[in-house]
Amino acid sequence: MIPPIASRFVAGETPAVALEHTRLTNAEGVKVILNLLGEHYDDPAPARDDADAYRQLIADIASTGLDACVSVKPSQIGLDVSEEFFREQYRAIAEAGDEHDVFVWCDMEDATTTDATLDAYEDLAREFGGGMGLCVQANLRRTKTDLERLASVPGKIRLVKGAYEEGSDIAYTDKSDVNEAYREDLEFMFQEFDGGIGVGSHDPAMIDFATDLHDQYGTDFEIQMLMGVREQAQFDLAADGYEVWQYAPYGDKWLSYFYRRVRERKENLGFALRAIVSG
Ligand code: FAD
Repeated sequence: MIPPIASRFVAGETPAVALEHTRLTNAEGVKVILNLLGEHYDDPAPARDDADAYRQLIADIASTGLDACVSVKPSQIGLDVSEEFFREQYRAIAEAGDEHDVFVWCDMEDATTTDATLDAYEDLAREFGGGMGLCVQANLRRTKTDLERLASVPGKIRLVKGAYEEGSDIAYTDKSDVNEAYREDLEFMFQEFDGGIGVGSHDPAMIDFATDLHDQYGTDFEIQMLMGVREQAQFDLAADGYEVWQYAPYGDKWLSYFYRRVRERKENLGFALRAIVSG
């Protein structure tokens, strides 16, 4: 069982509990992106197991009729084994998404994986059409060029600030530079994309900026935030008519995910400790 300290950020250990979380979140007008926790498998077996679990989850989402989709991590479905193996697993998940009409996102990991992830995504997105999406990170200097390439690829793009520590030769390392890059990238997307923009941020300044860009350019967008972070804002934005997606991880490998949330923002530890005290 997931202890109260982590249950703010993780939907549960099993797909059934994650789907129940999805039902409750949908009732608040917020859609859910489900992510099975797991990453960096060197062995093909667990990577194949997780890819199979995603295919089953996609079928379950379709049969329950919930407003949900999935987001996979490249190193969870085989990128550390080999690029070819990763592409095979990713393709099988994309096929299941296409068959059941369930959207398939791909997270972006550290910068050593960007080329392989982008190339695999582009090939599959061109093959399967609009049912796929990719995360890109504003902290990487290359992202402006990547967005120019992605503008003509069908699918959605989630822009995030970037969660991985990268060197200053390839990344903006100062927070204000990352924020500036995020704004520039977002503006490019609203100008050049036909829609399919995912604003993956809890930052009220970035969300306000996105709504201003929408008023200026008319391009459709959605807001994406993590489970357990500014949840009332998620519900309020949905009530105001915005399309809001909550990224909800589930599975038994919750410890490192929880640790990352706490390291990223010390207030998260406060929430977690209060959850322990209140049982
Ligand atoms: P920050 O720059 O951390 O904070 C800016 C402001 O937002 C704060 O000043 C505060 O006002 C508000 N805020 C932020 N956190 C909180 C909080 N806990 N409580 C209250 N207010 C808060 N990164 C990747 O590298 N790859 C991915 O695939 C990826 N996928 C993601 C998917 C989603 C849906 C989201 C939301 C994030 C994802 N990330 C991913 C993480 C992302 O890169 C950032 O590390 C993370 O979102 C923190 O940046 P931020 O824009 O939310 O705000």
